[in-house]
Amino acid sequence: MTDNQPTIYRADWVLPVAGPFVAGGAVAVAGERIAAVGDAAEVAAAYPGAQVVDLGRAIVMPGFVNCHSHLEYTLFRGILDDAQFGDWILQLVDFKASLTPEEYALSARLGAAESVASGITTVADTCYGGTSMAPAAEAGLRGRLYLEVFGIDDTRIDETLAATERRLDEARAAAPPTFDVGLMPHAPYTVSSRLFQTLAAFSRERGISMASHVAESKDELTYVRSGSGKFAHDFREKLGWERMLVQPYGVSPIKYLQQWGVFDADFLAVHCTQATLDDVHILRAKGTPIVHCPKSNAKLGCGIAPLPDLLRLGVTVGLGTDSPAASNIMDMFDEMRTMLLLHRATERDASVLDAETCVRLATLGGAEALGMAAEVGSLEPGKLADLIAVDISSSHFAPVENPYSALVFGANQDDVFLTVVGGRPVYRDGEHPGLDVELLRAEALVARLRLQERSRQGLVRVGSVESGWWQTGGALEEATA
Ligand SMILES: [Zn+2]
Repeated sequence: MTDNQPTIYRADWVLPVAGPFVAGGAVAVAGERIAAVGDAAEVAAAYPGAQVVDLGRAIVMPGFVNCHSHLEYTLFRGILDDAQFGDWILQLVDFKASLTPEEYALSARLGAAESVASGITTVADTCYGGTSMAPAAEAGLRGRLYLEVFGIDDTRIDETLAATERRLDEARAAAPPTFDVGLMPHAPYTVSSRLFQTLAAFSRERGISMASHVAESKDELTYVRSGSGKFAHDFREKLGWERMLVQPYGVSPIKYLQQWGVFDADFLAVHCTQATLDDVHILRAKGTPIVHCPKSNAKLGCGIAPLPDLLRLGVTVGLGTDSPAASNIMDMFDEMRTMLLLHRATERDASVLDAETCVRLATLGGAEALGMAAEVGSLEPGKLADLIAVDISSSHFAPVENPYSALVFGANQDDVFLTVVGGRPVYRDGEHPGLDVELLRAEALVARLRLQERSRQGLVRVGSVESGWWQTGGALEEATA
C-alpha cells in the first residue's frame, strides 16, 4: 500500500458509527488515513487502481477505544477472582510489590498483544512507572499513558510534585508519536486533597490530561464521607499511613473532588459506581467525561454506574475493561454485552440501552472521553484508519439481522480477525507481525510460577522484595519512611 494507491477493505457490513451502517460496504484507506467510506461499488469506482481486500462475511467497524486499563497487571489475571473490592486492593498491594521491572514489562506486552487481537486500537492505560507505553505501542496500539500519583502526606507535597514532574518529563520524552502522557492521581483515599489541587493546577498549566479512580466503591464513599472503614484502617495500616489523620468530609467523593476544583473536560472520572443524581449533575456542569467499567465493577462487588442518568443528562461516557486483575479479559464485546444486560436488568426496562448505543460508547464515545474524537473513534474520511474486522461466518451469528445486535449480543474477542491501526495491519488471523505471542505466553507462565513461589515463601510483602514499591511508589515509600 502506498499513499497514492489506496487499499479498499470490503465487507458484508460496514459500521462507520458516525452514520448509518452500510450493507455491502467498503472503507478506502490511503496511507494512515481513511479516504472514503460507503457502498462497496461506489468506493471501488472512486479508486479504480486500488488494491481490494475482500473480507467477505464480516463486519468492519472502528477499532475499540479502551478508556481504562492497566496493561502491566495482565500477569495478575485470575489470582484474585473472588475478593470484594477492599480486600482485592489490599491483596493487590502485596502482589504489586512482588514483580520485577522486567516482569511488569512482560505483563504489559501480554496485555497489549491481547488488546490488538481483541480489536482494541486506542488505549488509555494507567501505570506508575510508564512501563506499559512501549509494549503498547510496539503491539500497534495508540493512546494515552496516565502516570499514577500517590501521596497523602502534605508535608512532602513539594517532593511528590517534583518527582511527578520528573517522571512526566521522562515519559513524554520516551513517548512514541502515537502516545501522549497524562497524570492519574490514584484515588481520593490515596491522594490528599491538597495533592489533588496541586496536580490539577500543574496539569492545567502544562496542558496535561488527568484522570482518577472516582467513586469506585462503597469503601471509598465511607472513607470520604465519614473518615472510617477499610480504607481509613486496614489499608492505611498496610501502607504504613496509620499515623496520618483521616478527616471526614461529609460529602460524596464526586462532591469532594468538585470542591477542590479538579474537574474539567480534560479530567477522566473512572468508575463512578457510587455517583448520585447530584453527582451526575456536577459532572455534567463541569463537562467531565466518565469511564464505565461494568465488568470490573460487577466482579469486585462495587456496583453499577448510573449510565441511564449520565446519558440522559449528556455526560460523555467511554467504556473501559479495567485491568485483567479485575475483569480478567480485555474483551470489549463482553463489556458492551455486560453493560447492556446489567442496565436492562436493574432498570427492569429493555428500552434503557440498545446495541447501537453500546457500540457507540465503545468507540466514538471513548474517543470523545479522551478528547481524541477528531482523529479516531469512527470511520470517516480524514480520520486515522483504525479499523477492525469481525468474522460473522460462525454459527453464533447466523443469520445477521442487525449488525449492532450481532456484535453486542453475539460476538466475542476471538471473532476479530483483522486489526488495522493508522492504515497498518497489526493483527491478522492470529498473527501479530513482529511479535512472538507463543513465546510471550510461555514467558508469562514462567513469571507467574515465580510469583506463586514468592507468595508461598511469604516474600510477597510491601517493601520486602527488591523491586520494592517502585511501581506504586515513591510516594508510598516516602509515606512509610
Ligand atoms: Zn484502574
